[in-house]
Amino acid sequence: MAAVTHEVDAWNSFLNTSLQEDDKEIYDLIQKEKYRQFSGLELIASENFTSLAVMEANGSPLTNKYSEGLPGARYYGGNEYIDQVENLCRKRALQAFRLSSEEWGVNVQPYSGSTANFCALTALLQPRDRLMGLDLPSGGHLTHGWQTSKKRISSSSIYFESMPYQSNPETGYIDYDKLEENANLFRPKLIICGASAYPRDFDYPRLRKIADQHGAYLLADIAHISGLVAAREANNPFELCDVVTTTTHKTLRGPRAGLIFFRKKKESDLENRVNNAVFPSNQGGPHNNTIAAIAVALKQVATPEFVNYAKQVRANAKALGEALLNYGYKLVTGGTDNHLILWDLKPLKLTGSKVEKICDMVNITLNKNSVLGDVNMVSPGGVRIGTPALTSRSFKEDDFVKVAEYLHRVVQIAIKVQEKAGSKMMKDFVVACQDVEEISALKKEVEAFATSYPMPGFDPTNISPVES
Ligand SMILES: *Cc1c(COP(=O)(O)O)cnc(C)c1O
Repeated sequence: MAAVTHEVDAWNSFLNTSLQEDDKEIYDLIQKEKYRQFSGLELIASENFTSLAVMEANGSPLTNKYSEGLPGARYYGGNEYIDQVENLCRKRALQAFRLSSEEWGVNVQPYSGSTANFCALTALLQPRDRLMGLDLPSGGHLTHGWQTSKKRISSSSIYFESMPYQSNPETGYIDYDKLEENANLFRPKLIICGASAYPRDFDYPRLRKIADQHGAYLLADIAHISGLVAAREANNPFELCDVVTTTTHKTLRGPRAGLIFFRKKKESDLENRVNNAVFPSNQGGPHNNTIAAIAVALKQVATPEFVNYAKQVRANAKALGEALLNYGYKLVTGGTDNHLILWDLKPLKLTGSKVEKICDMVNITLNKNSVLGDVNMVSPGGVRIGTPALTSRSFKEDDFVKVAEYLHRVVQIAIKVQEKAGSKMMKDFVVACQDVEEISALKKEVEAFATSYPMPGFDPTNISPVES
């Protein structure tokens, strides 16, 4: 190979400078974020810690390449390796879910889960066609048709007519009878199943039957549970659904992106409709660095280690749920079959926002979530807690019993602070949090606990704690 004989010109002087030297501000913020991830208890059910290998691929020079189109049919030259990357990714995506390439195809280009869903709708529906998805307050996702009585919020309700189905307010389980009844009136062209905050699994045979009564498509959005599905730790949506979408960064533990699987034999042109919906209808150039990183993640997903990971995610959620029930707390549906629990705080006269607030102050991250019977969408009555991220940090059942104890203490503090605040207003609550001894004590304890566990993807031991 010829040596590089030319000088770097002055206008290019920083193109080979490390981030640390080139941009100290961003570098420092990344260091702080790394320490935050390391020193806290990450319980947000949609998050995970991806691997070093995934991040290497994601941060690679593949980001430089334009490759609109599909492998073998690109709008740009120079794609011989990019084609191989995308083909490998597609092959691994089918393998990870044990799908034959005769029956299923996959598009690996969606930038994220929401875009994957809109692409799927574009492929399956005409504008103003009717769809039914699980209502947001029942645990569904925005992109499944969310609208309020005042406003169409999601593009899935702006460009299509949507009618939600819901969970039963008594049991917390999806009310399939009501769905069937309403589908008879609404006559949807598409039923979407899948959720972001539902602690139980889906009845695909029942959903298929309802869809068939109207000749409707059945789409499963397995964004949250795709890692469990791949490991056979959840019901298999591929047996009965026409299209399956997912994110790749939740239980699948890859980079931030989306996938669309489509049943090839459903209709002869479904493959083309899905591929065209991604590009050119909704996206431009694929993010090749991300596609490479998805491929890396999917290779990991196909290992026995990943199956054990998925089993542990569920065992941990079960242990956490049982520990909280032992304290006398109320969980939606009374427990969990998957990676998350929904904690109903209404019996404690607390809101999700207040518990989330105290958690934030003691290095525990989770999110407020609406639970059944909430009237006020701005101030939901529960929190959502997931185990995928901490299981990637090698937490087991006993460790989650400890997490439950921390959460119990958070709730006890929140009750005390609310009394001290003298009102139910959030701003009074925040003021009353100041100088509460138990908060600073618990923060210290949580930090010491969290930093005793390994951290995937990067070495946190050389990062100095952030001064607060
Ligand atoms: C997270 C999620 C999405 C959206 O994913 P983004 O990558 O955030 O756009 C879609 N559907 C469900 C069910 C989700 O949980």
